[in-house]
Amino acid sequence: MTIDYNLLRVTVDLGAIQDNFRLLRSLGSALIAVVKSDAYGHGLLPVARSLEACGAESFAVGTMAEAVRLRPAVRGEIFALLGPQSAHDAEIAINENITSVVSRLDQLPLLQQAANRRGNLVPVALKYDTGMARLGFNETDTDRVMETLAKCPRVIPQWLFSHLATADDPDQADYVRDQATRFQHIHDRLVAAGLQPRCSLVNSAGMLAYPELAWDRQRPGIALYGANPFHDSTLEGLGTGLRPAMHVQAPVLAVHPLPKGASISYGRAYVADQDRIVAVVAAGYADNYARGLSNKGWVVVNGQRAKILGRVCMQLTAVDVTHIPDVTPDDKVDLLGGCAAVAVTPEELAAWWGTIPYEVFCLLGMNPREYIPALPSSTQGDQCHVR
Ligand SMILES: *Cc1c(COP(=O)(O)O)cnc(C)c1O
Repeated sequence: MTIDYNLLRVTVDLGAIQDNFRLLRSLGSALIAVVKSDAYGHGLLPVARSLEACGAESFAVGTMAEAVRLRPAVRGEIFALLGPQSAHDAEIAINENITSVVSRLDQLPLLQQAANRRGNLVPVALKYDTGMARLGFNETDTDRVMETLAKCPRVIPQWLFSHLATADDPDQADYVRDQATRFQHIHDRLVAAGLQPRCSLVNSAGMLAYPELAWDRQRPGIALYGANPFHDSTLEGLGTGLRPAMHVQAPVLAVHPLPKGASISYGRAYVADQDRIVAVVAAGYADNYARGLSNKGWVVVNGQRAKILGRVCMQLTAVDVTHIPDVTPDDKVDLLGGCAAVAVTPEELAAWWGTIPYEVFCLLGMNPREYIPALPSSTQGDQCHVR
């Protein structure tokens, strides 16, 4: 589902993702690399292969369909976070050796029946809700979970998972501790019932801020892709070593004067307060470059910041290049990333956009992508070498 009608290009630096992985792994327990949603828009297979090449042993995707795509590319354990949703999904889990994350009782007999047909065992992770209130069992469901497992002897509960709601917010540390306490109780109760699950609680922010909650596996997603979960908070320093991997560029299509008093684009939302020069860039909301950036966002043109003027259109966006000499058609404009000093950071773009880096990556990542392969031993560079 790549956007195939445009001029915008995404470049993914696989070395940056490897560096982020090495940095995170140096902090704590073993990692489950979260590569759901096409590796947050960076590309499931290239990202997973690069991570495995530098030591990743397990991966988490969302759906069973993603797990099927990933299976031939890596040897490691694959978790399907949404678990089997049908008998077909359960067959896949067994045939492709996928660990299902199970959050409803009815998923257990689905897996049992599929395992019966194949005559083998199937591992699962039991997902408990400790405060997110989305998916998962509650502690009080444990008796029913154990009864159902007793009827599904081919289903092996190897893992206990839960997910934190506020790990990125230093002001909500109490809520993290409440979730951690509930997780501990659930663990103890499962152990008392005779299980010996390996445990995983924390995401990127959780692993950086709460190393004491590492348990057996930590599950970083966003930090692998180089966004700092603590941007603009008192804990910002915890994520400073991370390096964004996504670089997004689009070409200039036209450069022309905009005289004082003239307006530009739909609705005349910008009227020139002085004589200006504008560059019209081949990017718009049809490329998932959000219309909310109108009159708000900035890009980088020839190494300098340029502000968006007027409305972002379907495939075009105008920017102010009055202060930038020699801008010509086909110059490449950085919408995200670029050379270190002026690079548009994921956090900045997200703030102008009114969202978070996660959404910026997932949406811009749907555009055609190119890859910078990881060097054998990746260096701490920036994106200046990219065209
Ligand atoms: C997406 C996801 C993660 C990764 O979260 P980040 O905030 O991106 O690190 C971890 N665990 C689960 C269950 C998830 O769905």
